[in-house]
Amino acid sequence: MEDFTPRRKGRKVSTKPIRIAECPEDYGILTERPQHEFVKAAIYKQFNGPITVENVVDPIAASTGVVLHVRACGICRSDWHGWMGNDPDISLPHIPGHELSGEIAAVGATITKWKIGDRVTLPFVCGCGTCEQCLSGNQQICDRQFQPGFTAWGGFAEYVAIEYADTNLIRLPDGIDFVTAASLGCRFATSYRAVVDQGRVAEGQWVAVYGCGGVGLSAIMIASAFCARVVAVDIADDKLEFAKSIGAEAVVNSTHDDPVAAIMEITVGGPHISIDALGHPEILFNSVSSLRKRGRHIQVGIMESGQHNSSIPVDKIIAREIEILGSHGMQAHRYPEMLEMIRDGKLQPQKLIARTVSLSESPTELVNMNSFNAAGVTVINNFQQ
Ligand SMILES: [Zn+2]
Ligand SMILES: [Zn+2]
Repeated sequence: MEDFTPRRKGRKVSTKPIRIAECPEDYGILTERPQHEFVKAAIYKQFNGPITVENVVDPIAASTGVVLHVRACGICRSDWHGWMGNDPDISLPHIPGHELSGEIAAVGATITKWKIGDRVTLPFVCGCGTCEQCLSGNQQICDRQFQPGFTAWGGFAEYVAIEYADTNLIRLPDGIDFVTAASLGCRFATSYRAVVDQGRVAEGQWVAVYGCGGVGLSAIMIASAFCARVVAVDIADDKLEFAKSIGAEAVVNSTHDDPVAAIMEITVGGPHISIDALGHPEILFNSVSSLRKRGRHIQVGIMESGQHNSSIPVDKIIAREIEILGSHGMQAHRYPEMLEMIRDGKLQPQKLIARTVSLSESPTELVNMNSFNAAGVTVINNFQQ
């Protein structure tokens, strides 16, 4: 095998006194550790502990990976769950961030599809490219998943190492900026797969969306872009108003009305597709109960631990021939279709971006993720401050 030295653009060398965060010994990508180059990152060393912006060791591309110069990274509730210690994939110390976009800064020895400077994004589940699932085109449920911000250090950093790059990177069309690309992250892309691939949405069909958070609002926008008729369910009137503004034809406030009865009436017999975009046992039960015959329930929202064995109305599943499907992220090869719709203006994920923040503001944003229930997505787009 030929000798290979990772190619890098001209890189800065830190001249300030620095504290080097320890890297996990099993972090295989860091097979070489340059002793003189460091990058800024938001890192935590204990769960539910302080998150600080520090200089950490500069990542190196694995032979099948790249290093990304991160240009934007979404802040997501999954990052909050990870910080709280709810994700067994995370080992400490850890850098969060799984909704990222950027430019390629270094490529590994065996990379064939990418070069330095390419503008890219990636799914939050990166498939290995060689397991049974990947070979069938289902990289989103790969047997050997690489998840930046979970199984490895993530995008709350100036630079991040990405594994399996040939299989998972997605080229950004010229018209799509880094913040928009990062906002697709897990919520928008996951909803796209849920509505289009798992839901098999068709023009004129009714789609019920339970929960108008990031996933739910994305699903509403996507379903209506495919000319489906959407009924949105939530407990907050302001979120339902926003849902209407991005395509919901009807809304139900489930604190005032029984959602099953209301949806059955609005859709005259039940929706063809119903999505639990929040993750709650009652929603799952109501969603399945309200479906039209041969309808499809799509479970996207993650239930809290202790709720994983929720009950469902089995009698209705049989009598109405109902399908129940899970949906987990979206594989890279399905992105171009979605990006094309964004470029054409048929989908406008920009409407779901609430604001942008700097890396130094990201720790506060992350720890308040649970208490501060703002509508829309927050994206880090300034890594110098
Ligand atoms: Zn795989
Ligand atoms: Zn996310």
